[in-house]
Amino acid sequence: MTHALSWQSVHMHCPFCRNADSRVVDSRTADDGSSIRRRRECPACGKRFTTVETASLAVVKRNGVTEPFSRDKIVSGVRKACQGRPVSDDDLAVLAQKVEEAIRANGQAEINALDIGLAILPPLRELDEIAYLRFASVYQAFDTLEDFESAIARLREEDARGE
Ligand SMILES: [Zn+2]
Repeated sequence: MTHALSWQSVHMHCPFCRNADSRVVDSRTADDGSSIRRRRECPACGKRFTTVETASLAVVKRNGVTEPFSRDKIVSGVRKACQGRPVSDDDLAVLAQKVEEAIRANGQAEINALDIGLAILPPLRELDEIAYLRFASVYQAFDTLEDFESAIARLREEDARGE
């Protein structure tokens, strides 16, 4: 189920005349995708004002329960795959930020837990290919040795092409 983006808005009324209606003349999304700044014009008095809206992001778990998106959960989910690898806490924090940005860029208010796993794969691969393979084996449900072999072959091919 796809929900329209639910922006939590801070006062939409015109601050000059209290008119409830306004027209958006310009929208800018923050670099991290977590908020959007809108320039609005009041059709009643013609004055312009700015609103800043922040988006809520919910994760739908496999059992249907929703919970707020948490970078900490991304970090703890990935940490196990990084055991024994040269990956620092800072690396994991940056990875969690990239995952959140990628998810928010989709513009949806809700995301399935499984899709978060998929959003983790590209930045994790940039970080450490062994951790990536470990993590992918869980999220892409590798069942056999062939699954690992084809994933590794794909990595080699793409590395050879310089991707
Ligand atoms: Zn007004």
